[in-house]
Amino acid sequence: MLNFDLNTPVSSITRVGKTTAGKLKKLGIETVKDLIFYYPFRWQDFSVVSEIAKLEATDAATIKGKIQLINNRRSFAKRKNLTEALIADQSGSIKVIWFNQPYLIKVLQPGDEVYLSGKVDFDRYNLQFVNPVYEKAGGETIHTARLVPIYSLTGNLTQKQIRFLISVVLPAIDLIDDWLPPAISKKLNLPDQKFALRQIHFPQNQKTLAEASRRLKFEELFLFQLRIFLSKQEISATPAEPVKFHEEETKKFVDSLPFKLTNDQRRAAWQIISDLGQSRPMNRLLEGEVGSGKTLVALLAMFNAALDGKQAVLMAPTEILAGQHYNNICRFLGKTKIKTALLTRSQQILNQKKAGKIEVFKKIKSGGVKIIIGTHALIQQDVKFADLGLVVIDEQHRFGVRQRQLLKQKSDSGSDRSRPVATLPHLLSMTATPIPRSLALSLYGDLDISVIYELPEERKKIITKIVEPRNRPAAYDFVRGEIKDGRQTFVICPLIDLSDKLGVKAVTAEYEKLKDQVFPDLKIAMLHGKLKAAAKEEIMADFLAKKYDILVATSVVEVGVDVANASVMLIEGAERFGLSQLHQFRGRVGRSIFQSYCLVFTDSQSEKISRRLGVLVSAKDGFELAEYDLKFRGPGEIYGTSQSGFPEFKIARLTDYQIIAEAKEAAQAVISEGLDKYPVLKQKMDQAGENIHLE
Ligand code: ADP
Ligand code: MG
Repeated sequence: MLNFDLNTPVSSITRVGKTTAGKLKKLGIETVKDLIFYYPFRWQDFSVVSEIAKLEATDAATIKGKIQLINNRRSFAKRKNLTEALIADQSGSIKVIWFNQPYLIKVLQPGDEVYLSGKVDFDRYNLQFVNPVYEKAGGETIHTARLVPIYSLTGNLTQKQIRFLISVVLPAIDLIDDWLPPAISKKLNLPDQKFALRQIHFPQNQKTLAEASRRLKFEELFLFQLRIFLSKQEISATPAEPVKFHEEETKKFVDSLPFKLTNDQRRAAWQIISDLGQSRPMNRLLEGEVGSGKTLVALLAMFNAALDGKQAVLMAPTEILAGQHYNNICRFLGKTKIKTALLTRSQQILNQKKAGKIEVFKKIKSGGVKIIIGTHALIQQDVKFADLGLVVIDEQHRFGVRQRQLLKQKSDSGSDRSRPVATLPHLLSMTATPIPRSLALSLYGDLDISVIYELPEERKKIITKIVEPRNRPAAYDFVRGEIKDGRQTFVICPLIDLSDKLGVKAVTAEYEKLKDQVFPDLKIAMLHGKLKAAAKEEIMADFLAKKYDILVATSVVEVGVDVANASVMLIEGAERFGLSQLHQFRGRVGRSIFQSYCLVFTDSQSEKISRRLGVLVSAKDGFELAEYDLKFRGPGEIYGTSQSGFPEFKIARLTDYQIIAEAKEAAQAVISEGLDKYPVLKQKMDQAGENIHLE
């Protein structure tokens, strides 16, 4: 009998104290079930147990032997504790050292038979194990002598801890009901879920691991595709209110802009406006090169919705971006009488004046404002719309398909006006991270796509340079020169220390260096994730108002930020970013008539990395870079971290084309038969739905 079930909190499992429970919670692990569904992201192959005599220097070796001797001593030079041991099997013996684990002599004693897995290296003339993982021989191993799971962790949780916990709760897998219709697993030859879950954590061999991983990837992609089909069904079953094209006003508006639209902008705007005129909801993705002016295209659509007496929402991933969109849009709308609001967690602005939340909510509900710009707050809070005709989601890869659906639903239930039929608003999503078309189609087969390749004519190509360490002073001189000419500079720092999630340390260190040593005479500000939204907002506003010459930041400036006067983007530790992300950074400059520069620094000497960074210089556009990332580093790189990219996938990757296709076909089949015929699956989908509401 198990003394726990799937919902048992981890804190009531053996050896989980308060602190550990807290750390697990940070990983989203609160129950036994969460542990089981916390998949490893890689497996280290320690499965071959070697004879000691046959060992060679290697990163991954395993032996089984008896401890002959084990002792602690202080290393003379570094005053560290060293634990030294001698281990022997029938073929020979080898020295082992561990650093700073003095307690080991209590755990491991002469005569104990152990497995050791880890790195074998030369100590002068002889081979030795350095900091190997150890495990007593006897039972089934979980840390050594097998394919060993590696989990992504935070804080100082250890692999051993989490492996141990998962091994403890593993029997609870028997309590999980397999929800995948048996006909599907049979047809596709997928292993059952219990097998898959066990094997994903502690695989017997590469083959069972591959089977398990295929099954679990399929699960995710299948649910994802089902959701897409369901929403497609809902969309096609629900009409939208057509938005009339107000040709005269639109022309006048476009003429009032300080620039001429590019041809691509015109074409995209036209495709969108034609969609809006239909009584079927638009579902379109607007992709474009960074800085190609997508916001304006979206604004043309929102403008028409507003003239038609409907409301339009623009949702941005960060407060900074929402604020910036709001300011720009108000500036463009200038003399028109269209009422606007900004709604984020910390800011509510109505027709360009600060306002109370209640007041903004009221005006949205009454239809008094037509264009509403905001963040996630728009979903989370109890906003009700009077007549939502259009939803625009900026940087849509940051929002899951689910959130998109939620906002749509909100508008539905939020409608005050009694209508004969429920309607759905039109939907436009935008992304500046070019999704290679093949990928977009295989995932979001239900979307129409418009692409803006062209940049506004007056833009000059950004000059990108990979700067050698010895040229750093020259680069700083260059920055100084640009600033003297009135321009501004961004400096981006990578997160070096994993515990420094918000980038406070990295940014502060760089900021202090620049302020105290390099540019003591210049005005420098810093921006990182720990700052309150209002503070970030203020810093961005001040930077925009040229109160600072240099802004040192984490990747928070990655998406969308628009400071036309900035002409230098200086990136530190570039090897830590994907090319698409670097391209995004670079897109923060070159947004006006000034010649702009991207100065790229790397701490790495690796040839491979310098070749990869070279592509940043040579590629013609973001699409090419995205393809490159996809090919060489996986989709996570295109979208920044995998977490911020597609949160719905724990194990599936966007390059799992084959499984995506299988999942799509299976989902299609289920939908055409009717989900009602699959009560278990339906329940699973409903549960997933509930989770969304709790998010
Ligand atoms: P992105 O496509 O990356 O979201 P934005 O919409 O932020 O780009 O536009 C970048 C900048 O270019 C903004 O300052 C915007 O006002 C400006 N812009 C947009 N369209 C044009 C155009 N046709 N000519 C010149 N500048 C433009
Ligand atoms: Mg943008």
